[in-house]
Amino acid sequence: MLIKSLLVLPLQMRVLFLVLVFMVSCSSDSEKVTVEQPAETSQYPILPSLDLNRDSFFLSSTHLIQLEVYKSLFLSPNCLYDIPGNLSSDAKEKLFEEIRKGYFAKSVFMDHEIKKYYHNFAHAMDVMVTTHMLLKTGGAIFLTQDEQALLLLAALAHDARHTGFMNSFLIKAGHEYAQKFDHESLQEKQSLSFLLGLLESHNLIQSGEDSKIKKFLSEVIIFTDMKRHKEQLQKLNAIMPQILSELKSARRGKDFDLILGSSSKDLKEKIDLSAKLDQNTRFLIASFLLHCADISNPGKDWEESERWAILVLHEFFQQGDFEKQKGMEISMNCSREKSSIPESQLGFGKYIIQELYDILLQLNHEAGSQFQKNFEANQLKWTNLREEEKRSGVPYFPPPRPPSSDAGWNGKG
Ligand SMILES: [Zn+2]
Repeated sequence: MLIKSLLVLPLQMRVLFLVLVFMVSCSSDSEKVTVEQPAETSQYPILPSLDLNRDSFFLSSTHLIQLEVYKSLFLSPNCLYDIPGNLSSDAKEKLFEEIRKGYFAKSVFMDHEIKKYYHNFAHAMDVMVTTHMLLKTGGAIFLTQDEQALLLLAALAHDARHTGFMNSFLIKAGHEYAQKFDHESLQEKQSLSFLLGLLESHNLIQSGEDSKIKKFLSEVIIFTDMKRHKEQLQKLNAIMPQILSELKSARRGKDFDLILGSSSKDLKEKIDLSAKLDQNTRFLIASFLLHCADISNPGKDWEESERWAILVLHEFFQQGDFEKQKGMEISMNCSREKSSIPESQLGFGKYIIQELYDILLQLNHEAGSQFQKNFEANQLKWTNLREEEKRSGVPYFPPPRPPSSDAGWNGKG
């Protein structure tokens, strides 16, 4: 009945209603509700609710809300993100639908269909919104306007055409991507080539021509490959003192506390380092922000963080089932019989996330401190769950709660 009544309302009213429902549903946790709503964004009521605590599954609960989130970022009156190349509003909306479609293709390999529990469009939307928040909490001071818009577009497309398998598996199993993409960063190269193809079709770039846009998109998307994690952190660590020194001198004469690392206050003070940093540095910072957004789940609140963790592990377990069925060696974290979900999350936190968030804290203090606070609380919960597993001998194995079918979920819960 409620749904039927909703359908007769105009689109804006429907979205406003859904946002209000969302806000009311979160009202027991005051941190989750952003009440301030800038006047210039009132046409897009969803925009103020996009903070680091928003529920990414809600943002992907329907196609309508997904589109509204995209439009609030790329088509709002002040145009928060202006894609370089003067695309019309209709063309920008078409681009969104084309990218979205890139996540809906069935993944079939060796007559086996894999369900994308994790690498679906809800993840893409989550990464785009988190990237937006990393920029709005201070990350934007390092990048040009064009780079900010392209980074958000890259975030939305970074896992398009993902197979639901790991790159290492595709190489081992002789998937066509292995040959096509020279045995390295296979799916990242596939997503990049998909996005570049779309931009060519909109005449934003030319085929066969080297351009700054291509170089930027290539760097930020290829760096989402976990195999490049260490390399990225080493490169950024090496130039961090120079970045922070530029920030310190740009703040001179302004009223700042002593905390180094950018924050939304820098944006309010109109600090802009994009002209002070060279292109390589800006591209590296952009790729780091996208990588942080891509694996930001351990830094979100427990309910969302745990839900994504269970989903990614179930995607891995499907690969393990397939490997077992084909008599192949089962990849790490892919055995549903032998893996412990809490232990895999503790290992991921210890060896990957800890250092990543330490560096994020240096670069963007506002987002980094929030991610670290959540991450520490989540690690404590995983530790307790691991202890409970050992004590009881019963694995912690909750059923996955996949996103909606509008988010690209193509299986049964
Ligand atoms: Zn991703």
